[in-house]
Amino acid sequence: MGWGGVGATLVGCDLPTTVTLEEGKEKVVSYLMPEEYVIPGVGVWYASTCQQCPSGCGIHGRVREGRVLKLEGNPASSVNKGRLCQMGQASLQAHYNPDRISKPKIRRGSSLVDASWEEAYGLIAEKTANISGSKFAWMTGSISGHQSVLLQAYLESIGSGNHFVHETINNAVWAKVSQDMLGDSNPRIRLDKAQSVLSFGADFLGTWGSPLHFSTEYAKFRTSPRGILIQVEPNMTLTGANADLWVASRPGSEGALALGIANQLVSKHGLSMSGLPGSVQSLIRSYTLDETVTATGVDADRIADIAATLKRRSPSVVLAGASAQGHEHGYQCVAAAMVLNVILGNIGKTIESNGEFAYASMAPVSGNTQSLVSFSQAAADKRFDVAFFSGVNPVYTAPKSLGLKESLANIPFKVVFSHFNDETTAMADVVLPLASAEEDWGTHVAPYQAGVGEISIQQPLMEPLSTETRGFGDIVLTLLKKRKETAYEGFADYYAYLRNAFSTIPAEHKNGASDDQFWADVLAAGLIDVGVKETSLKVKGVEFDMPKEMGNSSAMVLAPSARLGFWDGRHANLPWLQEAPDQISKVVWDSWAELHPSTAKKIGVKEGDMVKIASASGEINVKVYIYKGVHPDVIAVPLGQGHDADFSRYAKDRGVNSLSILDAKVDRMTGELALYSTNVKVTKAAKTDDVLVRFGGSETQVGRKLVSTIPADVYERTEGGDHVA
Ligand code: SF4
Repeated sequence: MGWGGVGATLVGCDLPTTVTLEEGKEKVVSYLMPEEYVIPGVGVWYASTCQQCPSGCGIHGRVREGRVLKLEGNPASSVNKGRLCQMGQASLQAHYNPDRISKPKIRRGSSLVDASWEEAYGLIAEKTANISGSKFAWMTGSISGHQSVLLQAYLESIGSGNHFVHETINNAVWAKVSQDMLGDSNPRIRLDKAQSVLSFGADFLGTWGSPLHFSTEYAKFRTSPRGILIQVEPNMTLTGANADLWVASRPGSEGALALGIANQLVSKHGLSMSGLPGSVQSLIRSYTLDETVTATGVDADRIADIAATLKRRSPSVVLAGASAQGHEHGYQCVAAAMVLNVILGNIGKTIESNGEFAYASMAPVSGNTQSLVSFSQAAADKRFDVAFFSGVNPVYTAPKSLGLKESLANIPFKVVFSHFNDETTAMADVVLPLASAEEDWGTHVAPYQAGVGEISIQQPLMEPLSTETRGFGDIVLTLLKKRKETAYEGFADYYAYLRNAFSTIPAEHKNGASDDQFWADVLAAGLIDVGVKETSLKVKGVEFDMPKEMGNSSAMVLAPSARLGFWDGRHANLPWLQEAPDQISKVVWDSWAELHPSTAKKIGVKEGDMVKIASASGEINVKVYIYKGVHPDVIAVPLGQGHDADFSRYAKDRGVNSLSILDAKVDRMTGELALYSTNVKVTKAAKTDDVLVRFGGSETQVGRKLVSTIPADVYERTEGGDHVA
């Protein structure tokens, strides 16, 4: 790693290989005179940052003879501590993907045709020359670091404040509730200190928060004395599959269940409600055991046992995520979960202050779906003349009921920064081909950091595969120069900009090193910790209600569940992830709908049969996978497939997009899309010749006793364990 500083620059510039993506045109030059730091056959590892999801994990990339061959986690990163998930591993397939866009494109009539960068930049400069700030918008995914600084500078140069930050998989409601009730939108969660965890739909091992960080913390939670995990959710997630007790919930009932557990803790176990507003105390008193059973359908014994476990296995931590926040009263459900933390005395023990990142302009800006809703509305109202899109594919992630695809016709000039053709590039007037994560420079601040303020560096791991792609920072820098922003004229490229930015980092973080040595040290380590401003948590009395009708209807509900794999659909073009069996169903290369056996029987379908799922906003046809890890009133169709644009040869025309048929309902407090509140009608559809391809094939042991089980009470008696009855 000592080579990091020097090597990274040389890797990008000096190696004599010539590589193209076009079959038949590849030119191989024998490697007779490698650079002196290259030992043929010996790999060198360089530090960088994963860009496959917003978590910001540190990586090491193994480079051999000028090509990056393998990625692993950077042990120095406090986010992932040396781990790398399958999405991170598959980043190489995004980099080497044969379907990457390798040239700028400009719309001519109904087609996008290849163009030069000069033409693309010229057109953008022309369309933005005299634009009024309010007529310009930029939609990005979660963003931080110097990319965020430059993006804000560009918005300022235009006089626009219209930055929409969109992520379908997000913690926006948890952040809002934490801010309102604790004064910190991003508190530190100490799984390592907890003896029990109750999670309402927070898939913290898969898609919630910072999955790799929480996976390492979870490992500590499970060491002696082994912590107890209780997961409440409509369909089983990776976290649910690891739980000691998994409780199937009807979407919308999570808040009532949390209040019912709170009632038990107060009435049966003598815990105090002090600190909570009188109205919330009355609400908790109203959720008696009978009332809670009626509202949730969960057994009285089960509710009482969860409360007893949380009391006995203290300190605990209570979390709330996707399915808990995904309806019209999502805020209230998450607030009810946070109330449990207050009653259980977890604040300050397992939920701590996390501090605040010291450099506001580089601080992470996390995405949500409220921005997608408000952008769609603004587009429908013809508020924008020019819109940029980067790091997002809103035409795919927006439910059709939002009408975004049609409203985009109201924006006369659309520029999309992208690595691949997708549903949004298909609507663009200009497409700018991006360098891959392994070819680009950047700095990133992970949105969830455990009490530290790390800036993680992204450095190119190899020479660009195409001479016609550009780094995001380089493009924004060029656009700023085109707007005659003189402050940027001295920077030849984004690399020069970053070098200069690092020279301005306060001396206290440089350990007496010169600017050059400091830069080399940061590249070698992959990060620098600039600390955080101390903050403190203070429980505030927030009032909320809980409509009694929530969660006790019997209509079928669609659950568009997320997976650490395709994520929000952005990775469906990576064959490793198509080939990797789903963590729950083991399905490969397809979509499926999860149905409870009792529901499947009512509908008259068996595994592999096709069902039609119809909402008020559309319908999809998909094969069914039948198992017990789903609530009988729920049909779950995981996210990711169903791309209708030319999103690579691997994803095109494969499976269905469950987001597409969601109703345009939102959480009334935060405006977040209510992803788990679309009622659907499910009927048997005509069978196709396709089979549902699953790895494995059987979920029973067919009497072979491959895994032995014993009743919990026997375990407790003979092994001294603790269990949830
Ligand atoms: S959790 Fe996200 S950032 Fe971390 S390795 Fe996986 S994809 Fe990359």
